[in-house]
Amino acid sequence: MTAGRHVAQSPTLRTPVITPVLAPGRTDPFATLNDEQRAAVDHGGAAPAPPLLVIAGAGTGKTTTLAARVARLVCEGADPHRLLLLTFSRRAAQQMERRAGQLLHAALGLRAAQAAPRLPWAGTFHSVAARLLREHAAALGLGESFSVLDRADAEDLMGWVREAQGLASTRTRFPLKGTCLAIWSRVVNARAPVAQVVAEAFPWCLGWEDELERLLHAYLREKQQQQVLDYDDLLLYWHRLMAEPAAAAAVGARFDHVLVDEYQDTNRLQAEIVLALRPDGRGLTVVGDDAQAIYAFRAARVRNILEFPAQFETPARTVVLERNYRSTQPLLDASNAVIASATERFTKRLRSDRSGERPQLVAVADEIAQARWVADRVLERREGGLALRRQAVLFRAASHSAVLELELARRDIPFVKFGGLRFLEAAHVKDLLAALRWAHNPRHRLAGWRVALLLPGVGPAAARRLLDAMQDGDDALQAMHAFAPPRAAAADWADWLRTAQALRDAGWPDAVDTALRWYEPHLQRLHDDAAVRRRDLLQLAQIAAGYASRERFLAELALDPPEATSDDAGAPHLDDDYLVLSTMHSAKGQEWTAVYVLNAVDGCIPSDMATGSAAEIDEERRLLYVATTRAKQHLALLVPQRFHVTPQSRAGDRHVYGGLTRFVTPEVAALFDAVRVDADGADDAAGIALPPIDLMARVRDAF
Ligand code: ATP
Ligand code: MG
Repeated sequence: MTAGRHVAQSPTLRTPVITPVLAPGRTDPFATLNDEQRAAVDHGGAAPAPPLLVIAGAGTGKTTTLAARVARLVCEGADPHRLLLLTFSRRAAQQMERRAGQLLHAALGLRAAQAAPRLPWAGTFHSVAARLLREHAAALGLGESFSVLDRADAEDLMGWVREAQGLASTRTRFPLKGTCLAIWSRVVNARAPVAQVVAEAFPWCLGWEDELERLLHAYLREKQQQQVLDYDDLLLYWHRLMAEPAAAAAVGARFDHVLVDEYQDTNRLQAEIVLALRPDGRGLTVVGDDAQAIYAFRAARVRNILEFPAQFETPARTVVLERNYRSTQPLLDASNAVIASATERFTKRLRSDRSGERPQLVAVADEIAQARWVADRVLERREGGLALRRQAVLFRAASHSAVLELELARRDIPFVKFGGLRFLEAAHVKDLLAALRWAHNPRHRLAGWRVALLLPGVGPAAARRLLDAMQDGDDALQAMHAFAPPRAAAADWADWLRTAQALRDAGWPDAVDTALRWYEPHLQRLHDDAAVRRRDLLQLAQIAAGYASRERFLAELALDPPEATSDDAGAPHLDDDYLVLSTMHSAKGQEWTAVYVLNAVDGCIPSDMATGSAAEIDEERRLLYVATTRAKQHLALLVPQRFHVTPQSRAGDRHVYGGLTRFVTPEVAALFDAVRVDADGADDAAGIALPPIDLMARVRDAF
């Protein structure tokens, strides 16, 4: 179909209604879709249609189809402000908006300078929750300036409450704060009672159920008192909101269409939110792949996607996509073989029309040799015309790339790392954010703690006195001003009070400059490498300028937990070319021409942290499958023979002698080209072929 446009102003909608009309000569941006994709894109026309499920393997165009469906809906008159698009990461939301925008541009025949309609409600479950809660804060009894805690802060707060509850001093060891937070997270996301969560996922904490129950209640009360929400609260509060029929109807009525990508990784809470938004399923589209479910460890339920069609009175229409457009057939053969031994699954073998080279299984001596080999190949391919950003190195745990990072730095190869927010975790960045947070929300105890202790002359006792006074009084701000600081801190305290006022008065993003000016002398006093850190802060200011308001900025920064984030740690400038380093989890949904998978050894993949049950092993297998299906043309799995486990181990230098990952069985290995790298780093694909020598005789002769 050729899409043209006819624009009419509707009195009820905020944006123009666009009705497609045939416009001879205009290219159809949807023409490349195959029949099944098109069926999904066109399903139901513009009116909210019966529910739709697209379930299909990696690289078959699910995300492409979803973006095209968004574009098609807008073309046919849907209001972009009333489309809710839920994606797995912030970056995925941006990409989706861009893809849909490009299609719309072509479909509507817009000129290059004209912007395609924006999709203001494209985001992660957590960011959408934060926005809805903030918009309705007053009605929900939440303070309007509530803050969102990031993982590290939530852990600190949990530690604080744990201590206050007297659980830090019990004679037998009570679970650590990180474990307590993980239990809390699972209780929320799986909607399961503490006892069940402990029995199923934290068996080493058995016996502490009552204390944990008490702790989690105290933690919840403390957050409410401080007007802070942690990451899991965002979903929890949104979910509770949707359990109120009037509120659910009101929130649901804001949207005509709800579309969800990567549905296989939603948890029970998220699925219930989606259903509460669209109880009869009309206007609901979900897409996903059960073979790529990799978040069960965080309470995701693959059942959500498998049972989706039957949940509605009018069962969902199911569209299955079969052709893979991403990878060559030899790479797909390898990926198919990896997943073949998984237990029952819905999506079937992938097929492609593209031929190409076989993937490589590369045996290297150790992690150093691994880093060298990867850096060599990356540069070689770049010389051959493949930009760095078309290549990616994937690994199971963020720490696995440490040796490679050093090698890349040594050779001056720029890279970004996804899946670990090194940047936001750095002390100086946290200091600056704490200042912005505390000025904005004086009840934010952790931010206050950080800022107060930063000031020379203020120790823990004084900080506690200040924060207690601020918490107990009705007016936290007044208590802040009434605080009598230790004499040595008087000047810095007065400076902070002025700054806090200026921060509240300043517009956005000017407030960041105010905070930077305040922090500068502290930066110089606290850090020898102030110049390097200043660059980070300027970068933070740049990022801040991209957000519409302080609230959006602070909330969004706290949103993606480090292990799921797709945001980069210290990105080079956008026009730079850089290699991508990513955890396998953060690589979800993406693709690169060349992919190198580090440490394809047992203990890394499957992780030795996840070998407890058959279900966990299966999830690790799917994770490797996600990694291998990211590659378009070149794929290498690296197998260090000696793998360094704990650099700081007390026993000195500890290595495990690497066994090839159990997921690469002999049948799987047969689909790879085996490469052995000798000590000099030279490849030896066929094994060194020596000419026949009678060595025994030579040795005899030498004597
Ligand atoms: P994943 O399971 O990894 O999330 P996916 O199913 O979402 O993958 P996409 O990322 O949408 O797949 O698409 C994979 C690749 O195939 C992209 O490069 C996309 O541009 C391309 N592609 C999708 N559909 C078509 C098509 N009909 N014609 C040509 N290329 C296509
Ligand atoms: Mg996708």
